[in-house]
Formats: sequence, structure tokens, C-alpha cells
Amino acid sequence: MIKAVSLFSGGLDSLLATKIIMDQGIEVIAVNFINPFANNKKMKEKQHYALSMSQKMGIELVEIELKENFLNLLRNPKYDFGKNLNPCLDCKILMITQAYQIMKEKKASFIVTGEVLSQRPKSQFLWGLSIIDRDSHLKGFILRPLSAKLLQETIPEQKGWVDRNKFYSFSGRIRGPQFDLAQKMGITDYPAPAGGCLLTDPIYARRVYDLLIHDELTMGNIELLKLGRYFRLSNQFKLLVGRNEKDNLELFNQAKPEDYIFTPSHSKGPTGLGKGIIDPDTERLASGIIAYYSSSPFEPLYIKIQHQGFSSPKMIQPISLSLDQIEKYRIENFPFEISRQKTKKTFQN
Ligand code: SF4
Repeated sequence: MIKAVSLFSGGLDSLLATKIIMDQGIEVIAVNFINPFANNKKMKEKQHYALSMSQKMGIELVEIELKENFLNLLRNPKYDFGKNLNPCLDCKILMITQAYQIMKEKKASFIVTGEVLSQRPKSQFLWGLSIIDRDSHLKGFILRPLSAKLLQETIPEQKGWVDRNKFYSFSGRIRGPQFDLAQKMGITDYPAPAGGCLLTDPIYARRVYDLLIHDELTMGNIELLKLGRYFRLSNQFKLLVGRNEKDNLELFNQAKPEDYIFTPSHSKGPTGLGKGIIDPDTERLASGIIAYYSSSPFEPLYIKIQHQGFSSPKMIQPISLSLDQIEKYRIENFPFEISRQKTKKTFQN
């Protein structure tokens, strides 16, 4: 029996593509990618859906976690970023390349994707699809059943493993044809389109960008980006400030021995997690930021700093800062477009 590997994100398009191929008597192995930046509610739902649908459809699901290999793409994307920090074309090539390993392992003959021509900028336009085929060295072996009739014939079609007439000519962003097809196939419960990963979010992208240009892009640091307010105080030092009890606890728990913990000494207020090399000016600045978000009936307010290098916690009388002064250090307020140019220079050399 001919086998195929399907990129199975848990979204409707990948589900339809998989079903279309299965209905032609092909055995399908589904591959679901866990992207380090897919940590939002909708994408988690899609992952759960992929798992439960593969069980319902009786197909094997292989989960592949993208980690360092994905971070390397961000450091040096061959095809640059999308609107924010999303290297979609490189990301697709990476996923196809990884799926190819499963294809070899499972002795499958081709790869299936739910891509729809012109649905997304760049990566799903004809140019993008042909780049994906070329750079993954799988030209002719990537079948896209939802748009196959608008694309060149693939090897599985030429060899008669599948019937091209049973494929579709969907294109563009309109989702109606996919919804109609889902109804015809009896697929009624599927997650709403989740959009891209967190790298397409302009605020989140600026945080990631800050890690990128300071050479601090690690899996551990990415986890921290999901917490609190994010300040860059110097090239060597950043401060994360909790917004609520949950953030505060999480920041405290995530602190490494070399990190600095800032808390108001006698009042309610946020926890600050400081990472990097600190000097007295940065110490005062960080304390001033924590003080700004604290509610202290005690005057003067002191900020407690804990660090493994201190024999006992340090008490600092913070400088007084206005919101305008604080905002200057918020990563989200840093110019992004100019910075992206720098990324190209720094990382594409
Ligand atoms: S949106 Fe994110 S996960 Fe989706 S293709 Fe682009 S980079 Fe990859």
C-alpha cells in the first residue's frame, strides 16, 4: 500500500487534505509540529484537536517539537521575516524537511499539506510554494490536494497513485469552499482558524527581537517572554516585572541562581526578575521601576534585591520615576522597523 506523510496542524485545511488523500486509499501518517512560539490558546486547541482527530481517523500521529532548529531560523532567516518576526517560508521548509525524515523512516512515498494557493502572503503564493519544493529538495513529492488543480502535476499524480480529478482548485483567503467541503465530508467540529504563531503578534515579536539582537535567544528566555512587563535597562541587563500574583509567583519560580529578584520591602507590589550584569545605576533604575508599580503606605519605600552573590538581601531606596521615563525602557516602545534592518545586517552576514 502506498503511504504518505501529512502535515497535520489540527486546522481544517490540513484535516481536509489528509481526508482527501485517505479517501483515495493511501495510508497516511500525520505529523504535528510543536512550535516554541505556538503557545497561545487557539494553537493549543489545534494541537489537542489534531490528536483527537488522528485517533478518530485511525491514523498514526507523530509529534515533532521544534526547538533550537527553529531558533536558528530566527537568527538567520534565508527568506527574511513576514510582517512581524515570523519567518514563514523558512519555517515551512523546516517542517517539510523534518517531515521528510518521517517519510523515509515510515517508507512513505510523498508528503501532503493543506496549503491553499494565495491564502497567506509570501509562503503560500506560487513563488513561495516553489521555493518550499526546491529548498526541501522534494520537488514533485509535495502534494497539496486543496489547490492541486491549479498547480503542476506531482509525481504521485503522474504515477497514478492518486487521481488528480479528485483534487480541488481552491485559492485565496476565502474560506467558504473549505467549509462546504467539510460539510460534505461530515466534518462539523473543527477549531476556528488560529492565525499564525506568536511571532506574528507585533508586541510579542518585539520582545523576541530584543532577545535576538542581544544574543539571548534561548528556549528558557522564550518562556519568560510570556510573563509580565518587559524592560531593557542596558545592553547587559533586562528586567521583567509581574503584572499580577500569578506572574509574580512564576517569575520567582523561574529565577536562576545568577538572577536578581526585586521586591518592595514593606508593601504590596510586583516581583521583578533581573537578568544579566548589573551596575549601581541599573540597580537604582530597576528599583525605581518596581517602586512605580508598588502601592506603599510606607515612606520612604525600599526595594529588596536578592542575589546569590549577596550575603544578605540588599535594600535600595529607589529613584522616583514618572510613567514617561519608565516607558522609555519598555521593549514594546522600541522602534521595530529600523531594528529589523539591523537584524538583517547582524544575522545575515
Ligand atoms: S506563522 Fe509561525 S508557525 Fe506559522 S508558518 Fe509562520 S513562522 Fe511558522
